[in-house]
Amino acid sequence: MTNDQIQMTNQQARVEAERCLQCFDAPCVQACPTHIQIPTFISMIKSGNIRGAAEVVKTSNAMANVCGKICPEEVYCQSVCNRANEDTPIQIRELHFYATQSEARKKFSQVKPFPKSGKQVAVIGGGPTGIGCAFELAKLGREVTLFDRKVLGGVPKNSIPSFRLTENELQDDLKFLSTYFSVKKEEITDVKFSQLKNKFDAIYLGVGLGKDRPLGLKGENLSGVYPVLKFLEAAKVKQKKMSVGKKVVVVGGGNVSLDAAATAKRLGAFEVILIYRRSEAEMKVWKSELEEARKQGVEIRFMTNPLEIVGTKKVSGIKCRRTTLSKKKDESGRPIPVEVKGSDFILEADTVIIAIGQSIASDIVNRFKRNSKGFIAVDKNYQTSMKSVFAGGDAISGEGTIVQSVAHGKQAAHAIHKILAGKK
Ligand SMILES: Cc1cc2nc3c(=O)[nH]c(=O)nc-3n(C[C@H](O)[C@H](O)[C@H](O)COP(=O)(O)OP(=O)(O)OC[C@H]3O[C@@H](n4cnc5c(N)ncnc54)[C@H](O)[C@@H]3O)c2cc1C
Ligand code: SF4
Repeated sequence: MTNDQIQMTNQQARVEAERCLQCFDAPCVQACPTHIQIPTFISMIKSGNIRGAAEVVKTSNAMANVCGKICPEEVYCQSVCNRANEDTPIQIRELHFYATQSEARKKFSQVKPFPKSGKQVAVIGGGPTGIGCAFELAKLGREVTLFDRKVLGGVPKNSIPSFRLTENELQDDLKFLSTYFSVKKEEITDVKFSQLKNKFDAIYLGVGLGKDRPLGLKGENLSGVYPVLKFLEAAKVKQKKMSVGKKVVVVGGGNVSLDAAATAKRLGAFEVILIYRRSEAEMKVWKSELEEARKQGVEIRFMTNPLEIVGTKKVSGIKCRRTTLSKKKDESGRPIPVEVKGSDFILEADTVIIAIGQSIASDIVNRFKRNSKGFIAVDKNYQTSMKSVFAGGDAISGEGTIVQSVAHGKQAAHAIHKILAGKK
């Protein structure tokens, strides 16, 4: 959904809610990582209790409004909806967004205060997982201080383009949450981490992935070449004042690269070409994002590998080589691309955006054991290799989703709560 699509009207929401089968053991609830009681809130919409519906959603998912707008429902709840066996799945996310947005405008939802039960927890990182953990711990009566080097909001605040998620839509969640825990704008360095460890009873790490992976090719330092997070962050801050020139090439094949390409088009580029070294079948993207990028006029060149970024001081193009797919597969289970000799060509470009993935940006993580993919290793309680220190979100799983990150935070909060309850 983009801003071009507007929120459901009261009548549309009621009619859509009427279609819900109110399934016993509803698969949609199981498919939602935060296990929102979907049939319950839909039946509230049906009976006109929008406040109740919004509270059901908000108490289950700390980033309720954000997820109502941009959660990939095709991956979660909607993909398993039983109503699809009769005609079409219920538009669960749209109903969810209808409830939280209607409630935000009236500004009346507030979860009942929770009795304080002592013990202090520090949360490092104010993205979806840190927020999810802080809110759940507050609900459980724990005192939480959340630290972020930037302002609260993580990737949704800094990188997700405004045409998909507006500042107001994000703030509707953040304002609601701000009364439940304290927030400090502070970078937690290795030294500060040791201080927090002594002061707090437990720590939750939600540091995300803030470092862009480089291509490692000649010309990457030329002016006009952007790592994708830097590009998206600058575009959010500068908005239309950011100039990308006439021709933009994006290197990548994931959802983030599609966001970058659609953003470049909206910034006025005449031609935006996304190059990907495999075919469309191997792209790990949400269908809705791919459709949106194509709708914006982004051209995707499959089976194309970058070789070198060309230019003197400023980028002027990118040298590429065609590929074919081998029968052999890599660890992701996708066929390995093989370059075709003699097929080199140059795509002209004023701007090149590198979107081939991210890794963890925080030094603190060097203290912890990592899993095979280089992310922070945790046990089933989200506990790291260090006692009383827990972690979740993209920092343990790699690039994920907002709802998944909130769910990690929620589950970790319950584990932290139990462990603290057992402490003298
Ligand atoms: C461009 C883009 C578009 C996306 N679109 C969607 C979408 O439409 N739907 C969806 O569900 N998901 C989307 N995602 C994925 C989703 O945003 C992430 O999965 C999610 O934000 C991860 O949450 P997190 O809390 O783990 O990390 P983050 O959101 O990265 O938050 C980590 C926070 O930790 C802070 N931090 C890091 N180190 C320190 C430190 N040492 N001290 C203090 N603070 C620190 C950072 O400043 C940051 O605020 C998108 C991701 C990107 C990059
Ligand atoms: S699976 Fe679909 S029809 Fe069944 S309860 Fe969930 S939303 Fe309603």
